[in-house]
Amino acid sequence: MTNVDKHTSYGSDYKYIPATSISSGLGIEVLPDVFNQTIQIVNIQLVGNPKTDNFVLIDAGMPNSADEIISATEDRFGKNTRPKAIILTHGHFDHVGAIIELINHWEVPVFAHELELPYLTGQNSYPEPDPTVEGGMIAKLSQMFPNNPINLGENIQSLPYDGTVPYMPEFKWVHTPGHTPGHVSLFREKDATLLAGDAFVTVKQDSLYKVLTQQQEISGPPRYLTTNWEAARESVKKLAALNPSVAITGHGMHMDGKLLSESLEKLVNEFDSIAIPYHGKYVN
Ligand SMILES: [Zn+2]
Ligand SMILES: [Zn+2]
Repeated sequence: MTNVDKHTSYGSDYKYIPATSISSGLGIEVLPDVFNQTIQIVNIQLVGNPKTDNFVLIDAGMPNSADEIISATEDRFGKNTRPKAIILTHGHFDHVGAIIELINHWEVPVFAHELELPYLTGQNSYPEPDPTVEGGMIAKLSQMFPNNPINLGENIQSLPYDGTVPYMPEFKWVHTPGHTPGHVSLFREKDATLLAGDAFVTVKQDSLYKVLTQQQEISGPPRYLTTNWEAARESVKKLAALNPSVAITGHGMHMDGKLLSESLEKLVNEFDSIAIPYHGKYVN
């Protein structure tokens, strides 16, 4: 992209959120061409062979994290390299926290599902986080999470309708709504690699202790921000049916092999007890 639309803005309640985990700042090469970096409590991925400059960034971290994302990118791909594009799994603040600085710095296109675009172009706010879902400090902290709409103007485009992912020829996007209306996950068939976003996660977000220690435990989408639980259930079923060999989720450590297949099966079978909160404003 040569012409960056500068008429962009974060939501008026955008701010740094003081949350962390032991994985914060940690970068892991999960596969030779898939690198995961944890920004405080959320993950971003760099997908592409590090010996080339053909790569894509998945999601854009927490507020104020642009410098960290740029340096992780340059550490892996070389000084002054830039991704071909940024793909957003969805538009929650912790997945678009540095997007405006990254667009201005790299001048690259950004893609998200069509149904997510109203939340990324200043039209719609996500519903307020629900701090009453059971389970501790993160849910309480969620009251300070920004949810006024970000406006990326002309810089954001809809993902292609045919399921392909720009600049990621081996991947297909899978619509996995429930956590948000236009949430997508990315799947590569040849080695069954799944980038799940927040369709399910491997750390329970409702416990500050578990987020801090990143204790591995499969969970549905983060509770305080999920509004459509029936859609979320169907999305988990859809992803489990793909039989992923490795899953990198928006929060928590990546999971693979037997632990992943057994955990996904358990999540599908016990979705009501594992994923859905007992109470809270988005339950019935
Ligand atoms: Zn989210
Ligand atoms: Zn998230």
